[in-house]
Amino acid sequence: MPADDLFQRYMKAFETSSEHTADCLACQADDECAVGAPLYERFARLQDAYRQRQAQQRRR
Ligand SMILES: [Zn+2]
Repeated sequence: MPADDLFQRYMKAFETSSEHTADCLACQADDECAVGAPLYERFARLQDAYRQRQAQQRRR
């Protein structure tokens, strides 16, 4: 497994959701639209996974 694959996906999800927010008035107003919601959900999942991995590495 490539060491930074998770980080790459995490960053990509961040970019994708940020780009959407920049163009979407509903999401800017914290009223997630049908397009934005799965993007934020994916970002949140990857962020959790990434942080969990960081915590595990620190424990080594
Ligand atoms: Zn939106």
